[in-house]
Amino acid sequence: MGKVLIIGAGGVATVAAHKVCQNTDVFTEIKIASRTKSKCDALAEVLNKKYGTNVTTAQVDADSVEELVALLSDYKPEIVMNLALPYQDLTIMEACLQTGCNYLDTANYEPKDEAHFEYSWQWAYRERFEQAGLCAILGCGFDPGVTSIYTAYAAKHHFKEMHYLDIVDCNAGNHHKAFATNFNPEINIREITQKGLYYENGKYIETEPMEIHQPLNYPGIGPKESYLLHHEEIESLVINFPTIKRARFWMTFGQQYLNYLDVIQNIGMARIDEVEYKAPKADGTGEEVVKIVPLQFLKAVLPNPQDLGENYDGETSIGCRIRGIGNDGQEHTYYVYNNCSHQAAYEETGMQGVSYTTGVPAMIGAMMFLKGIWSKPGVHNVEEFDPDPFMDELNKHGLPWHEIHDGDLEFND
Ligand code: NDP
Repeated sequence: MGKVLIIGAGGVATVAAHKVCQNTDVFTEIKIASRTKSKCDALAEVLNKKYGTNVTTAQVDADSVEELVALLSDYKPEIVMNLALPYQDLTIMEACLQTGCNYLDTANYEPKDEAHFEYSWQWAYRERFEQAGLCAILGCGFDPGVTSIYTAYAAKHHFKEMHYLDIVDCNAGNHHKAFATNFNPEINIREITQKGLYYENGKYIETEPMEIHQPLNYPGIGPKESYLLHHEEIESLVINFPTIKRARFWMTFGQQYLNYLDVIQNIGMARIDEVEYKAPKADGTGEEVVKIVPLQFLKAVLPNPQDLGENYDGETSIGCRIRGIGNDGQEHTYYVYNNCSHQAAYEETGMQGVSYTTGVPAMIGAMMFLKGIWSKPGVHNVEEFDPDPFMDELNKHGLPWHEIHDGDLEFND
């Protein structure tokens, strides 16, 4: 039915590739392309052994529109799954437009030199995708992604008016390392060291990083200190569901993680500007001044998130807690969530739960497109599509969801 190109060969791409190979009735031709071709080849070999699927590979620098256009013109995929980094979103969208390919990603565009994420850069492509009759699906991981679809599902089935939305993301897993991030360290540290931001009564309110926090109880896990962060799905959800009066995003962090993060920031290792460093020349003839970005250097010495899976135990629990007016005209609360076991994710794909909870929805989004269920031309956030078929597939592909009606959402205001 469909020819797919996966760009990237990291944790998320690995999970998505496993899931794509488990669904060859939909994904009939599969290519993986990334900056380091040897990683694509190693992954293709694993997939071939496990599923007997013939996955082809290619080298591409996704920062280069020219290289992407050459690859896409040659392979002609129906959909490109961008599972590289947020820096590559715009170049890949541009190449898709130039070659007539549809597009999907899991994180919104970020410029390399500024830790700032908002949808305006990608929404600016709306008209061009519409005119080309092509579809771009934005933010199809877990958060953004499943959390946005949960919200659309709540709006469709349970609420006449949603008023308060709190997205709650708990990782209660333990990888037994002193400090590690669960996805790309550079992107992760940029995200969580930013100021907090939430939406209330038509305005955004900024907080100091990690300023607002409270314990929240996660199903099957218990209480965990949860911190208010800025997260990208809030931006599109309050536009697509305008009855929302307040929307916030919470994530759990352990005290040890926060202590390390504090040190990293205080000693300047979270900086994203270039610093000069005197390094020995490769030919051994003395020293030269090179420019390095401290956060990129830190990434090189931190554990690779892809290697965390083997000793990772515990679960993630991510969901939406919503309060508003139900279809009966009365006030109701609704909590929809998934718990995902790191060990189960590792046994199936060799990756930990955070890569799993992102890669599975990316596969389902591409499946929705190839089946013609989600296919309107333009640039769309996932909550703009029908949530029901996606929610059905979540139950079939390893991310079952659960609902609690009229429970205590634990927010007193
Ligand atoms: P990784 O760092 O593990 O993988 C990134 C991959 O992209 C690597 O294979 C890397 O290649 C490749 N890559 C980087 N730059 C280029 C380039 N210029 N050209 C070609 N390939 C490139 O990251 P993750 O798998 O952890 O994350 C992938 C994406 O998923 C990120 O955008 C992240 O923000 C997003 N994400 C979304 C979540 C959600 O719920 N929505 C949650 C978690 C992650 P190389 O191996 O050579 O470095």
